[in-house]
Amino acid sequence: MSGMNILSVASEIYPLIKTGGLADVAGALPGALARENMRVVTLVPGYPAVMAKLEKPTPAHRYDYFFGAPAQILAGKGCGLDLFVLDAAHLFARPGSPYLDPNGVDWADNGLRFAALARAGADVAKGPIPGFAPDLVHVHDWQAALTPAYLHYDGGSRPATIITVHNLAFQGGFPPTILGAIGLPGHAMNIDGVEYYGSVGYLKAGLQFADRITTVSPTYAREIMTPEGGMGLDGLLRKRADIVSGILNGIDDEVWNPATDIHLPQPFNSQRIDNRPRNKTILQKRMDLAPRPDAPLFGLVSRLSWQKGVDLLLEALPALVADGGQFAMLGSGEKALEDGFAEAARRHAGSVGCVFAYDEGLAHLIQGGADFLLVPSRFEPCGLTQLCALRYGAIPIVTRVGGLADTVVDANEAALSAGVATGLQFAPPNAVELAHAIRRAKALFQDDAATRRTRLNGMRADVSWRGPAKRYAQLYRELAGAPAAAAAAA
Ligand code: ADP
Repeated sequence: MSGMNILSVASEIYPLIKTGGLADVAGALPGALARENMRVVTLVPGYPAVMAKLEKPTPAHRYDYFFGAPAQILAGKGCGLDLFVLDAAHLFARPGSPYLDPNGVDWADNGLRFAALARAGADVAKGPIPGFAPDLVHVHDWQAALTPAYLHYDGGSRPATIITVHNLAFQGGFPPTILGAIGLPGHAMNIDGVEYYGSVGYLKAGLQFADRITTVSPTYAREIMTPEGGMGLDGLLRKRADIVSGILNGIDDEVWNPATDIHLPQPFNSQRIDNRPRNKTILQKRMDLAPRPDAPLFGLVSRLSWQKGVDLLLEALPALVADGGQFAMLGSGEKALEDGFAEAARRHAGSVGCVFAYDEGLAHLIQGGADFLLVPSRFEPCGLTQLCALRYGAIPIVTRVGGLADTVVDANEAALSAGVATGLQFAPPNAVELAHAIRRAKALFQDDAATRRTRLNGMRADVSWRGPAKRYAQLYRELAGAPAAAAAAA
């Protein structure tokens, strides 16, 4: 099949606006898909950060009245990306986070704001913008998830739809009274429609009406169909199991390239791995750790939240620092966790160093200097830090869940003797198993040849977007052949 036009609908896109991995995916996929002969235009809300970077905006569609006031869709480019921007100042011209008010609380009208995004997505999907008739619509997470529902209730012909779930924990539930305000019919409020435990469930609606459901790793795709991992949506996902699949995320291998990284005092690659220890020395200095080349140095780059299992790490720290282990952490999030790590840094001065911030440069230095990178998540749809770690030679230590299970080959005896190990896995996620994994890592570290081999295997693994883009393109091509019939199955 020749080239396809894809409409992507997302509430954030790197590098214009980012709060998490969704932005990375929405920002990186269009470029990777261009090599697969796919033209992707992304519809995003007109937040101030987006409006400021939009080049040559051209009005493409006008609304006299749209969720409370006039609005328009602008076509243009931003940071090299093809964009449609929903210019609705009454909904999006607000500073700071896309989702939270200045007090850190969800904007009270988030239900309207993201219904508006999805409504605009459905309108563009039907081809009212000259020169862009989408062959397929790809929506991301709850914020865009009503698009397939609008297309369903609008009736008439429509392109095929895919929804990608980046984290099932965020579902977008709103009171039933919102139904009229967002322009959905009363009969949508039932179990086969948008109703979800008495609320209007935006993600639920997307899962109900999209022609395909993807998530960001094959293991997470299986996990979300179980009662333990399904967060209330497993029943619906099991019912639609034959259209659910997992496609791993990649990372931008230009941004994450240890050979050219300006944040590394000493760049390196798999041929020049002997340059790497210099970064460890600088990292130790930066984190107030003892300058000891022989100490196994464990890094962490993470949001500090329950999902990320960092509380388990606090419990396992005595095992980590025993016999000379060191710990360098960069993260921010829950106050109690920050306090716990600050206290640990005082208690284990010279062995534990913490920075509580969001710091891109330090994240790169930890990846390029630490011997191991810890990712003890309780659940992890895909995870990006372990991919960066593989590329930068920081051997990942991960829980055997979600995308972590799919991207790290455990250094068990069989994998070591076959020469294919890239890291260490442990399960279940608890402090005892984590401490055990840390001890295994220390034992590996005593064996120079095995450590080097494991490090190099990781560095040579393909963690780029090339493979994932091919899989998305294949899915798009399959789906564009048979749209409407699949939709009716919901
Ligand atoms: P999530 O999106 O759930 O937070 P991911 O592993 O998918 O987790 O993505 C996290 C991304 O954010 C990674 O690229 C990681 O390097 C980056 N990151 C997380 N915390 C920090 C921090 N404190 N400083 C710099 N980068 C961070």
